[in-house]
Amino acid sequence: MVWGMADFSDHEQVTYVTDEQRGLRAIISVHDTSLGPALGGTRMYGYETTEAALKDGLRLSRAMTYKAAAADLDLGGGKAVILGDPSELKDKALLRAYGRAVDDLGGKYITSVDVGTGVGDMDILATETGHVVGTSDGLGDPSPITAHGVFHSIRACLEHHTGRDSVAEASVVVQGLGKVGGTLAGMLAERGASVTVSDTSEAELDRFTSEYDAATVSPEGVYDVSCDVFAPCAVGGVINDETISRLDCDAVIGAANNILERRHHARKLHDQGILYAPDYVVNAGGLITVAKEHFGGTRPEAFEEAEAIGDRLLTMIEDTDESGETVLEAADRYAENRIESASQVTVS
Ligand code: NAD
Repeated sequence: MVWGMADFSDHEQVTYVTDEQRGLRAIISVHDTSLGPALGGTRMYGYETTEAALKDGLRLSRAMTYKAAAADLDLGGGKAVILGDPSELKDKALLRAYGRAVDDLGGKYITSVDVGTGVGDMDILATETGHVVGTSDGLGDPSPITAHGVFHSIRACLEHHTGRDSVAEASVVVQGLGKVGGTLAGMLAERGASVTVSDTSEAELDRFTSEYDAATVSPEGVYDVSCDVFAPCAVGGVINDETISRLDCDAVIGAANNILERRHHARKLHDQGILYAPDYVVNAGGLITVAKEHFGGTRPEAFEEAEAIGDRLLTMIEDTDESGETVLEAADRYAENRIESASQVTVS
């Protein structure tokens, strides 16, 4: 089943875990460890089929390989999925059984939080394995560090477009005022950018506009606002056939995972003269934080590394100036070159 699947991309190892007594069914996908151990969260979700769970794990673990490589981290890509609704199935016994399965991989896979799991769950896993980050003893909420990376990505893209190393005269639309988007929008407003914000939650909008001078737009109208940068920080798939034709911006740069509904939308944006900064490059601040936790670093160091995302992105953008590539293609190449050099070192 695994080898023949379209989402299988030469994954090094896919481990099925079953513990009937504790109701555990999990799939741990290790995509590539050329650069280091495979780090990626454990997602717990009520998948309709085992195949859907496997597909999700294969896809997400491959994405982690690229995210780590493009962030200059010495880490590979992995992801685990636990099958089942966390509100019904998740308990201490199940998590401990899962922790033992992670431990059995001997450090090839390091886990952390994802959809359906949290810091408290990581604390339980830590009673069974040392190969876990994102615990309550760790470096804390990565969201402000993620926002820091997104902010510096925006700053770098504006520098490329305008030659100015400042966001002060820029107009930015931020979609989603959650942990990342709210911090990002605040940073932009504090530095003089003209900010328009949108959220499905009226409470989030009120909270933000009571603190900052910002315009608001409805969730439906967000794609029609003329601006320099559109920053999706809510959900994935927001750049699609329907929304692309409505966009009136110079760049799409945001924190949300899987901003593009399909990969070819990067080319479509490019053809429309809109720069798309790959989400996995821009939003790596979270991964940088847990990597620091794993290798032994501090939160200020994580902020510093997140800031460097901006310069790395700028280099990728400059690479495309003459080649006609999209920045997504340049980022993929950057990541693949790092992985390839590391695997050659391993082989020789
Ligand atoms: P969050 O849940 O704190 O915030 C999401 C916000 O988006 C909420 O305020 C919600 O009301 C709003 N929202 C949902 N649908 C919307 C819509 N259609 N239009 C406008 N607003 C909408 O999440 P977060 O931690 O801020 O993460 C935001 C995105 O960034 C997610 O896609 C997440 O996967 C990604 N991301 C987050 C981190 C991190 O460190 N938190 C790291 C990497 C990637």
